[in-house]
Amino acid sequence: MTSETELMRVSLVFLAVASVLTYSILFFLRRHYRRGYLQRWERSWLWLAVFHLGAPISLQLNLSGESTPLLVRILASTIVNGGSCLHVVYLLSGAWELRKGRVVADRWLRIWSLSAAGLALVLVLLFSWDHALVQERILVRSGGRGLLYGLAFIPAGVMIWRALAGRGGIGYRLLGGSIVAYGIYGFQVLGLTAISYLDQELRPLQLYLGFIEILPQMGIAAGMVIVLLEEERHSAIQAAQQIEHLAYHDPLTGLPNRSLFLDRLRSVLASAPRHGREVAVAFLDLDLFKRINDSLGHAVGDEMMRGVAHRLRGALRAGDTVARMGGDEFTLLLEVHERADAERVLSRVLDALRHPFSIQGRELIVTASAGVAITAGEPVAAESLVRHADLALYRAKQEGKDVLRFFEGGVEDDHTVRLALELALRRALEVGDQLLLYYQPLFAAGSGAVVGVEALLRWRQPSGRLRLPTEFVPLAEASGLIVPLGRWVIEEACRQAAGWRQAGAVDLTVAVNLSARQLNAAEFVQQLARSLADCDLPGSALQVEITESVAMQDVSLVGSVLSRLRELGVSVTLDDFGTGYSSLAHLQSLPIDGLKIDASFVKTVHSDPGSEAIVRAILSLGKELQLEVTAEGVETEQQLAILSRLGCPQLQGFYLGHPLPPGELETFLTARGVLGAA
Ligand code: C2E
Ligand code: CA
Ligand code: CA
Repeated sequence: MTSETELMRVSLVFLAVASVLTYSILFFLRRHYRRGYLQRWERSWLWLAVFHLGAPISLQLNLSGESTPLLVRILASTIVNGGSCLHVVYLLSGAWELRKGRVVADRWLRIWSLSAAGLALVLVLLFSWDHALVQERILVRSGGRGLLYGLAFIPAGVMIWRALAGRGGIGYRLLGGSIVAYGIYGFQVLGLTAISYLDQELRPLQLYLGFIEILPQMGIAAGMVIVLLEEERHSAIQAAQQIEHLAYHDPLTGLPNRSLFLDRLRSVLASAPRHGREVAVAFLDLDLFKRINDSLGHAVGDEMMRGVAHRLRGALRAGDTVARMGGDEFTLLLEVHERADAERVLSRVLDALRHPFSIQGRELIVTASAGVAITAGEPVAAESLVRHADLALYRAKQEGKDVLRFFEGGVEDDHTVRLALELALRRALEVGDQLLLYYQPLFAAGSGAVVGVEALLRWRQPSGRLRLPTEFVPLAEASGLIVPLGRWVIEEACRQAAGWRQAGAVDLTVAVNLSARQLNAAEFVQQLARSLADCDLPGSALQVEITESVAMQDVSLVGSVLSRLRELGVSVTLDDFGTGYSSLAHLQSLPIDGLKIDASFVKTVHSDPGSEAIVRAILSLGKELQLEVTAEGVETEQQLAILSRLGCPQLQGFYLGHPLPPGELETFLTARGVLGAA
């Protein structure tokens, strides 16, 4: 055996090891990432491994001469050469799927695979009848493989490079470039095989071909991995953008929705005084729209709604905002110099609606009523302005159809009511026994096990009336009362958690809701740590929930408070996710452990494809960022079924368990075996 054949052997082993290694990497990547194109590439490298492992055996059989039956030799060569042809087919189909984002139909894959196998057989059969024609056989088999690589890979590589390089990143360039290099390598194999056939001797370079082939192969493998990682990142960014768009726009009309409207209103209210402007909010409600919807069907109603949206947009200036609040209600946001300007613009808007709409061959007439509230040089909260406009609309409707009405006064009354409520709440805090915590269980989707409870604040007034937090928490936030109130919630929740742990629920976590003011309060973290220590609780017994919008207000401050909570072992969940503005960058930088999908999406997950898309996107975002995702507000079996199908890991809602006072929750937990029967 010469040193030349020795060298070739080493290079063959080298190639075989490399292809098996690459195959294994692709195998694990595919199991983890489940991308279609990865499956193709995994298959492709499986066939390459067949080729490289089989080539030395087949070579040996062929060199052994007549001692091996012709049929066995042909069979071995066909499997080996078929391997390299199938390698090409699967590599190309994976690249095509990646580029087009579509799956190659099974039928085409079968046709191409059969053609590849046929080609391999033809190459093997040529010159196979005469054992002496060794050089000819090498020429067709090795040269044929080179030709195939060159013809297939150069255009495919250029296609990947050109089509996807625009997206940025280096993965596609490396992948495309390496595939082109692989094609060039193929032509070189063809050339060298032809020359050495003519000279009847091996060229020095030919001895090193195996080592050269490693280079494009490694480039392709590295390119595939980088492409995969870049694709993952790209889809996370897309999911975040999709969530943002879906969450801030009305899917039917494409207009901003309530959240976006309020957000813009807040920023306009902050800037308008500087420009000496007033801000007007108009609430618009279509008269008798329900009748159109009921008598002519939803399709007509929807088209009408789009038509109305279009006209509203057209009647306003570019800087004004029109939003759809839901149903047949729209809100307009205008910046004006004085009230008369607002009156003029809004009369024009109502005028624009009076012309008949032509929908599906029908002429339909719709009118609208509007209620308007305007700042009068005084600072007003966004919510109040909207509420006042709503009130004015209510009065407009009482007066008849097609009416425009301004909100006049009544602010004083509002103030007095708030003041009285605030005083009562202060007293409740002092007295103590008026405040209660209810607890709502959270469930693991797969096992149905109770994984924790959320503490929800209740206020039992001396009159016996049970007030919900939505009625008094905003007031407590505005007056600063939320700080002592929140402190009480944490102490009470810790006390309760410690009791349940002693009664046997060792893993039960209690979640509490936090307000922005609490996070900003001095010594918040120290106090929380003290509450835990007083009850002898580990940090992991407690969870905190903050709403997405709070978290996004001051990311660096909130981030540092949350980090310190996490150092205590307390986990952090972002509440009402999907309704605030979070950019992916912020989400990644915030030290959080979980997301709660806002109940508004869960509510319509079974009826509105937009909501389902948001839920899907949030789930994939959660997976990407390794956050525990909970869907809250699950009210029906249907919602539960869809959420389970979408793979939502944790669930909460009336359908599974209502918020209960501690005694009733204990009965519930005992029945489920979470607490030992007392
Ligand atoms: P949240 O944190 O999003 O709490 C979930 C709310 O949804 C609770 O209302 C709960 O009773 C309700 N809920 C649960 N399951 C369902 C369901 O299937 N369908 C429907 N429609 N609702 C469901 P709740 O108790 O009225 O609390 C309202 C909000 O008040 C909470 O929203 C939270 O933001 C705030 N809150 C509650 N307790 C506290 C507290 O101790 N501190 C602070 N700062 N805020 C609190
Ligand atoms: Ca919550
Ligand atoms: Ca929530």
